[in-house]
Amino acid sequence: MNDHQNPAADDVRMRGFARRHTVDAAIAWLDDQLQPLGAELLPLPTTAGRVLAGSIASEVDVPGFDRATMDGYAVVAESTEGASPYNSLPLTLIGDSLPGRPFQGRVGPGQAVRIMTGAPLPLGCDAVLPAEWAEPSAACEAESPQAEPDAPGGRCVRALAAMSPGKHVGRRGEDVTRGTTLLQRGRLLRPQDLGLLSSIGVGDVHVIRRPRVRLVVTGNELLPSGSLPHGHRIVDANGPMLAALVERDGGLVDFTGLVPDEHDAILDALHAAADVVIVSGGSSVGIEDLAPTLLAKHGDLAIHGIAMRPSSPTGLGRIEHRLVFLLPGNPVSCLCAYDFFAGRAIRALGGRTKTWPYRPIRATLTRKLSSTIGRLDYARVRVIEGAVEPLAIGGASVLSSTTRADGFVVVPADSEGFAAGADVEVWLYA
Ligand code: AMP
Ligand code: MG
Repeated sequence: MNDHQNPAADDVRMRGFARRHTVDAAIAWLDDQLQPLGAELLPLPTTAGRVLAGSIASEVDVPGFDRATMDGYAVVAESTEGASPYNSLPLTLIGDSLPGRPFQGRVGPGQAVRIMTGAPLPLGCDAVLPAEWAEPSAACEAESPQAEPDAPGGRCVRALAAMSPGKHVGRRGEDVTRGTTLLQRGRLLRPQDLGLLSSIGVGDVHVIRRPRVRLVVTGNELLPSGSLPHGHRIVDANGPMLAALVERDGGLVDFTGLVPDEHDAILDALHAAADVVIVSGGSSVGIEDLAPTLLAKHGDLAIHGIAMRPSSPTGLGRIEHRLVFLLPGNPVSCLCAYDFFAGRAIRALGGRTKTWPYRPIRATLTRKLSSTIGRLDYARVRVIEGAVEPLAIGGASVLSSTTRADGFVVVPADSEGFAAGADVEVWLYA
């Protein structure tokens, strides 16, 4: 009987892993599956932290007019030539220009318009004399016939400094020039990006859809988060941890509670309305480990068993359009496998970079960090004043090793580890 006729052929339980895939092979398979999701149109104020689905160019100049950048007097620069505190020059005040309420007339030599920051520069003017370089006075020696008798603060102002053309004037388009591409597709929108887009008249923005991620936390021994552990029951650590990781990577978490180690419950969960299904626990080859067999039977279990420590009993696959991650229940393995595989996928589907959101630093090992050739190791380390102290490689169940650690060092599969004094790369948590 060949495997295709044998109904038990998909059942991988209690056979151990015949072979383990390399981390690189697992990532290569995964990367082949990753296309950013489609776009959705959202109101601008809701898009901070979202990924722009298409580049945005401005159809307008900002500002759309020349404007004052100081409070003072709009003038023809020439009229202030030679002005100084010892040689103040009179200018006839002919009106006001306020933000949103421009002065309507034209300004000629020897005249001035009181102007506030942000107000349109009147026609004929090319500079602003700041208020601190002007001295209001009741009347000019030689009054102009256009002088407004009721101009506030008097009908004349004396320039105490010379202004060159363009001084204290914000030119039309100096912030944004029409036709310029402001933000590129793939941009993670910052708060100031929202401000800029608003300033060019954008009301709705096309952003890449956030992947919907169904968390399937299995284990008959588990109590829901918020319980006290008692008897032989332990409290779910992976649910809250995975939810926070998915959220960090831009996914939309769907976690409605623990799922028992039961065939139907797990099969249902594998068919959730989601882009990604993450199963925690039961990913190996024990009798309670149902998910790999179910995925192999109803979908595609492309990768099962990876040459890494921890996280070796990790599975990757698909069921219809959904990407499925079978993560080991041991919390350190779960974290590590999430970071190597699931997080990468969630970020990529959401249009973000595949690379880790951890900051790498280089520092010196205080002690030797040994590893086995043929297997990648994820070593938790502390970093104290630039010195890297290994905490743990094994101990997949000791989650506190990851909270005591400042970060981790990845020992590649082809390495026997690093000697004391070696310069290593540490990925800092948080
Ligand atoms: P499993 O991968 O289901 O074989 O579980 C491996 C180990 O991780 C067992 O000791 C489980 O009790 C433990 N474990 C499984 N799921 C969780 C969880 N959500 N939180 C904490 N420990 C877990
Ligand atoms: Mg289990």
